[in-house]
Amino acid sequence: MSGRPGGERPPGAARSRSEAPLYLDHHATTPVDPRVVDAMRPFFEVDFGNAASHTHRHGWRAEAAVELARESLAGALGAADPREVVFTSGATESDNLAIKGVVEAGAGRGDHVVTVATEHPAVLDTCSALEKRGVRVTRLGVDAEGQVDLDALAAAIEERTLLVSVMAANSEIGALAPLEAIGRICQERDVLFHTDAAQALGRIPLDVEAQGVDLLSCSAHKVYGPKGVGLLYVRRRRRSGARLRVAAQLHGGGHERGMRSGTLPVPLIVGFARAVELALADLQGEAKRLRELCDRLEARLCEAIPGVLRNGPREDRLPGNLNLSFEGAPADALLTQCPDLALSTGSACSSARPEPSHVLAALGLSEARSRTAIRFGIGRGTRGEHVEHAAARLAEEVQRLRSAHG
Ligand SMILES: *Cc1c(COP(=O)(O)O)cnc(C)c1O
Repeated sequence: MSGRPGGERPPGAARSRSEAPLYLDHHATTPVDPRVVDAMRPFFEVDFGNAASHTHRHGWRAEAAVELARESLAGALGAADPREVVFTSGATESDNLAIKGVVEAGAGRGDHVVTVATEHPAVLDTCSALEKRGVRVTRLGVDAEGQVDLDALAAAIEERTLLVSVMAANSEIGALAPLEAIGRICQERDVLFHTDAAQALGRIPLDVEAQGVDLLSCSAHKVYGPKGVGLLYVRRRRRSGARLRVAAQLHGGGHERGMRSGTLPVPLIVGFARAVELALADLQGEAKRLRELCDRLEARLCEAIPGVLRNGPREDRLPGNLNLSFEGAPADALLTQCPDLALSTGSACSSARPEPSHVLAALGLSEARSRTAIRFGIGRGTRGEHVEHAAARLAEEVQRLRSAHG
């Protein structure tokens, strides 16, 4: 197989409209870049050894590949030491390990966690599960742009607070957290700072040292890598100098410095590192391109129809993210009308009754407005003509829905 560096047809771009819907849901997941597939292939077929096998070449080669990937990923996060990277199955597991692991290890010293109402369910539901075990959780609110008030955050930290968990970039509205400022507050109070960076990795600059992050969760499949692998960055020593302890949530062979047992998925780890290398190679250029495409999409929609409202931040947003409400056009009906567009509302839907998004509710939006919200996730495969097409199709269907309900 030949590598196809940035080939004619980018990953995720349909060959024709009849073949597959136009993919505009890159917050949910991303296609695997062909160059990532190429990097992984030998580790399925040839160097398939167990990285923990130390008695033969198969094992050595697998281990060497894992350690190269670990170094690369540690570098990408600005980590001081590759040993601070703990491989997991994805960001959900990393969030669970970070929060449960810190709370369990710190049980003698504290029993309180501070987080934000707009976090991913992997954080919010983990906190709720801990609450049932007697842990106290403070969920801070946000303003209309999705930002937490830093004075309120500082005030929420108590004597018995173990951890503050604030996501780097919101998966629905693209709000970006001031990581450095939060990191500073946490350091002053000697409280650990965890961030869920699943959406941020490969889209905005991350640097755990400069930003004062103690624990960071991320996932390969959000950054054009494979599904089923992620990592938790765990600072070796707290910024106060004491050892940072995280209690394992999976017990077994003692892999990953005892923090996460289980045979390492070598091909996925190799692909993860390659995917992040590719994303960082053109982080700024791609971010600019994605921002321009989002602006164009919004502009086209606003030109075509009235009643288009932006949800979330005006300016400083995750590249590729746009969240819009279309007055008088329920999102579920609109998506049903557009099977040629792969889009989402961004909220977790139960099959019986779609719940309005907890993120949009936290912004103070009415339920009516939340129910008309569509999340656009523009990505590497998206081109100008895709955005033009999507805007035209949506404008057409919004008008159709409005006249039907009008
Ligand atoms: C996708 C996502 C997750 C879950 O990641 P998985 O690797 O799919 O478990 C967690 N947090 C955020 C912010 C996400 O976008």
